[in-house]
Amino acid sequence: MVKGLGIWLATGLGLASLGWTGEKDGRLDIYWVDVEGGAATLIVTPAGESVLIDAGNPGYRDPNRIVQVATKEAGLRRIDHLITTHYHRDHFGGAATLATLIPIGTVHDNGVFDGMPDDPGKSYWEFAAQARRVIHAGDKLSLRQRVESPPVSIHCLGTRKQFIKASPDTANCEACAAHRPKDRDGSDNANSVVTLLEFGPFRFYDGGDLTWNQEFRLVCPKNVVGRVDVYQVTHHGLDSSNNPVLLNALQPQVAIMNNGTRKGGQPAAMQVLYSAPGLEDLWQLHFSQLSGQEYTVPGLFIANPVDEVQTSMPIAPLTGRRRDNRCCRNLTAQSASWLAQQAPCRSAVESRCERLAAADGCRRTLPGSCPRRWPSNGKACWRRGSSVQ
Ligand SMILES: [Zn+2]
Repeated sequence: MVKGLGIWLATGLGLASLGWTGEKDGRLDIYWVDVEGGAATLIVTPAGESVLIDAGNPGYRDPNRIVQVATKEAGLRRIDHLITTHYHRDHFGGAATLATLIPIGTVHDNGVFDGMPDDPGKSYWEFAAQARRVIHAGDKLSLRQRVESPPVSIHCLGTRKQFIKASPDTANCEACAAHRPKDRDGSDNANSVVTLLEFGPFRFYDGGDLTWNQEFRLVCPKNVVGRVDVYQVTHHGLDSSNNPVLLNALQPQVAIMNNGTRKGGQPAAMQVLYSAPGLEDLWQLHFSQLSGQEYTVPGLFIANPVDEVQTSMPIAPLTGRRRDNRCCRNLTAQSASWLAQQAPCRSAVESRCERLAAADGCRRTLPGSCPRRWPSNGKACWRRGSSVQ
């Protein structure tokens, strides 16, 4: 049982007043700062140490939002560790400006390596930080522990296409047989740093923008990640990532998508998420126009539901070939019709939505008291930031 876990979804204009975190309350807190289709995930350990995974886009908007969450919501005075998953501007772009706004301790990144497709440039390499180190598969961040709390760790499972090795007694992952490779990805996404946060039995996976074929290599033939509780939807919900083999291996209970209005939430990726075994809830930072009404989650699960008022809700076309879809396969194994295969899944999703919506309920109970639904041990609270309207 994990006592003291907090998860916060940020809105574009800030969070609701959520109180202090870290050593003042002895909790582990994770914040998804809204950087509009980029990444900035802030972890504050029970001992009050902070780890920021990615720093959003260049300019002041994203660094300012990160600082606001870090100082006003989490009560931090510095970022102890910054992990840059890869050298794309929606991940490293805000780092240099951020360093002028709040002190940064150790930067962990891929350094300069052979075949590096993108160079983040002088301002990235030279911004002020206490230390810089190249991160490798198998590295563990050295984190302070709080005596009264369960142990907390952050482990690099892979980076630059190198992944940790499974122990010899690990069985082969059954989901691997369903892998359908995609074209080789020569971008820096494929070099993303993959991290696993553990807090007692709680496990959170952040794969940056790791792409399809590398996701397969991470969990096949042996799943070196294991199951997780929370999955940060890889690559903002693009369908060049989120291989169903990965989702079937990790079996997350909750997924959180750091998408933008027109970035991420692609129908094929949403289909994989909805089909993931054991997934109870998918939360996202913005309503995705790419999802349309066919694939969107209920507004209750969207931190920023209305960015651009649309005259009508688009119904997304059913694009892409069908992925390995356990829900559909189990329910309609004999059916050859794609649409017929979708129907049972859709009704499963709808009944889940009805259950939640039934609670007029949900809106009132989610922010205040501990919902029964997540995580299953009932000890943690999910609070949602105020919406931008
Ligand atoms: Zn990205």
